[in-house]
Amino acid sequence: MKSRTRCPACLSTSVTVAYEEPYRGAGIQGYLKTHYEGRATASADAYTFRIGRCGDCGLAFQQQVPDDELLGELYNHWVPSTGLERNHRDYNLDQYRNLAEQVPFVIAYFGLPPSQLNVLDFGFGWAHFARMAMGYGCAVSGIELSAERRSHGESVGIRVVDLEELPPQQYRFINAEQVFEHLTEPRQVLERLMASLAPDGIVKINVPNAVASLKKLGRGTGFGDLSPDEQMTVAPLEHINAFCADSLEAFGKTVGLKPLRPSFRQLYNSASGLLEPRTLARTLLRPVYRHVYPRSTFMYFRRA
Ligand SMILES: [Zn+2]
Repeated sequence: MKSRTRCPACLSTSVTVAYEEPYRGAGIQGYLKTHYEGRATASADAYTFRIGRCGDCGLAFQQQVPDDELLGELYNHWVPSTGLERNHRDYNLDQYRNLAEQVPFVIAYFGLPPSQLNVLDFGFGWAHFARMAMGYGCAVSGIELSAERRSHGESVGIRVVDLEELPPQQYRFINAEQVFEHLTEPRQVLERLMASLAPDGIVKINVPNAVASLKKLGRGTGFGDLSPDEQMTVAPLEHINAFCADSLEAFGKTVGLKPLRPSFRQLYNSASGLLEPRTLARTLLRPVYRHVYPRSTFMYFRRA
């Protein structure tokens, strides 16, 4: 384990302890046993689950975090099996639809042909987002730590790159889905990503919202008494940066980013194309001439 005494987002040294509980206490031990399905060793037991709160940007973060050795042990041996097959099997229509709304939103935002959109998927996992973006014609590069996932990424056509070797001002869109809560040094990482962002580029950061859990811990609820969903947002050792909306916005600000607030029209239209005058008629009429008043040569067949 190692200690973080400065805020990992704004680098302030004004940090107070918001919550602490020893790893060997019943609440954390119960969580470790269940969450890691018995695979957790005693490696962290001498330490304290201590959440610090930054006096400047408001970020809550775990102050004792895994060193490289424990990170290796944690992600290679403890974390529940999230192999490709299981991950793929558990992914439902709504989750794909969610991705299929984000990609056209980004493409429509730039108003460029998809082939001109260089996308970087930072922490691409099993490549769900990356494959969706490729499906829409974007050129997708990706970064991923796990060797197994990197090789899967390459096999589906992602250009796998390293954070250290990103080309300058290259990407119009950088996707960071469920990554920043895990990083020991999120500020340094965001700075590197920023150097590779095109001047008009956008960055998406999605992290668990820890606001409810932090409130409860602050009122004296023990970690073991949080619901499983609440525990997840501040998960010991893994979700070491516990963001809420304000601290996420402040984090972006440290590197010169500000939130992009899309209009309802942009958001709903990216899902359906219904609100764009240019595509409205086509979107409304295509199902009609294809399937309702079928005189078209587009047919789905099934057995008679
Ligand atoms: Zn801070």
